[in-house]
Amino acid sequence: MKVIIDPNSGYCFGVVYAILAAEEELEKTGELYCLGDIVHNNREVERLKGKGLKIINHDEFALLKNVKVLIRAHGEPPTTYKTAVENNIELIDASCPVVLRLQNKIKTGYEDALKKNAQIVIYGKKGHAEVIGLEGQTNNNAIIINEKDDIRKIDFEKSVILFSQTTQSKDGFDEIVKIIKEKIKNKNNLFVEANDTICRQVSNREPQISHFAAVQDVLIFVRRKKSSNGLYLFNVCKSVNNRSYFISTVEDLKKEWFENCQSVGISGATSTPMWLMKDVSDAILKLKLLTD
Ligand code: SF4
Repeated sequence: MKVIIDPNSGYCFGVVYAILAAEEELEKTGELYCLGDIVHNNREVERLKGKGLKIINHDEFALLKNVKVLIRAHGEPPTTYKTAVENNIELIDASCPVVLRLQNKIKTGYEDALKKNAQIVIYGKKGHAEVIGLEGQTNNNAIIINEKDDIRKIDFEKSVILFSQTTQSKDGFDEIVKIIKEKIKNKNNLFVEANDTICRQVSNREPQISHFAAVQDVLIFVRRKKSSNGLYLFNVCKSVNNRSYFISTVEDLKKEWFENCQSVGISGATSTPMWLMKDVSDAILKLKLLTD
């Protein structure tokens, strides 16, 4: 049996940058706070905690003073920066440049929307850390839609300026655009401005991972449940190979998955470390030896 790790998998540059920024500071001082999990991967978080990283939530952040806090790749809303100034917190801002660019676009779009009596709509997951940062650019006035059903939250007597969370599916975005355009197509004074702001690190992987998954007997996708690009990429695998399984750790592997199997592909989310996929590969080979 052959076990192959997807050559296009591993951390995206946004995650690499945040981890390097944390490691650099931890090397120097041995202590650093991070607002939320630095990466959606328990073992990586544990590894960094071992070097002195302390993961905190927003309530804990509000109580801190005179310390250094890392902002992870998902970015933060303006209120976080304001609290940092008030509490003399030094921020190490590792927001992904793609997310920062999107935050600025939404901020400008919101100012524009106010002048044109339009509304800002974000195609994304309500409550996701990146979306909280995006909503913050609009004083939390953006309308968040994730499912087709959520479209009823939009006022179709007003124009729409639409953006997407960076890790959403391109097909889902295109479908939402189509529905919104259809709803206001006969209203001459209204417009729809659709900004496809999906990160290419995710959307470019769709054709690659689809091909990779289709040619394997079994596909193992490694991701943590919280990872939204992981769910999206796993669904792409599942759509072309129904022997696709997702796991978070090697303990989740089941030997019956590998019956009558000649090739196994391993892939992961943009936050799945390469070393974890290597561990999964070793564990599959061991399982197979036990069953043969
Ligand atoms: S998926 Fe894209 S936007 Fe998100 S952290 Fe990675 S590079 Fe940045």
